[in-house]
Amino acid sequence: MTYAIYLAASPRESGIAWAFPRRYRGRVTQSRGSQIKPITAHNANQLYQHGTLALLVPGLLEGTTTLGELLRHGDTGIGTGEGLDGELIILDGIAYKVGSSGAAERVGDDFTMPFANVHHAAFQYQCERADIGLEDLNKRIVEANGRANTFFSVIVRGTFSFIKTRAVIKQQAPYPKLVEVADRQAMFLRHDVKGTMLGYFSPVMFHGAAVAGFHEHFLSDDRTFGGHVLDAVLDHGRIYSQVFDTLVQHLPVDDPDYRNHDFSHDSIADDITRAEG
Ligand SMILES: [Zn+2]
Repeated sequence: MTYAIYLAASPRESGIAWAFPRRYRGRVTQSRGSQIKPITAHNANQLYQHGTLALLVPGLLEGTTTLGELLRHGDTGIGTGEGLDGELIILDGIAYKVGSSGAAERVGDDFTMPFANVHHAAFQYQCERADIGLEDLNKRIVEANGRANTFFSVIVRGTFSFIKTRAVIKQQAPYPKLVEVADRQAMFLRHDVKGTMLGYFSPVMFHGAAVAGFHEHFLSDDRTFGGHVLDAVLDHGRIYSQVFDTLVQHLPVDDPDYRNHDFSHDSIADDITRAEG
């Protein structure tokens, strides 16, 4: 049996005190772990992906979509800019880039990206967790969802007693391979920071199109800090999931480098594991 409680019909009626971006408030439902199901209204069952991680492996880092275009397919997501220019996080239709300084800055509709995931937010409340490390947390989220072979998104909102993020240093054309760039990154540590961790879980069988497992980005509540999450300890927070039954895979079909590249000699899966694992 599924039970889903709409917490509020509209933000105004809600009176919900927790700091969810305005647009989420009417769209969070509550479900028990494995009973979280795809919601088909507003295409909330669809994960839209532009480019693939595989395409970054040989250094196809040209920005082949714009933020403006991406936002037509969702209001929530993660990605990276042209030349791996920063770690992108989109919450409530607003995109922030965390560059190699670790500071978050808003980016406009003309910002271009070689790779991004986006979807229309309709998260379901899953549980609360306290004092838990990232690896353990991620494992329990998969177990609770009972969906290791399904794409889903996770939002963790709360206080992190510790968080370690990274941002790649922007590369210039001709672009290097992904494994070479993995060494050119800045790492950041923060303690006792409030914020949102937004992640996507991809099934093992899609390793290449995405990173198998979780790909998570962070943004602090004061919108000054974030990045690609390497490690964290959640002091306390709430976990929300959104399950997708459909992957919309968009490819940069008119990009000459993409059209002409021969992928047969790239060690896609290994290089992704090395760079992102
Ligand atoms: Zn990332």
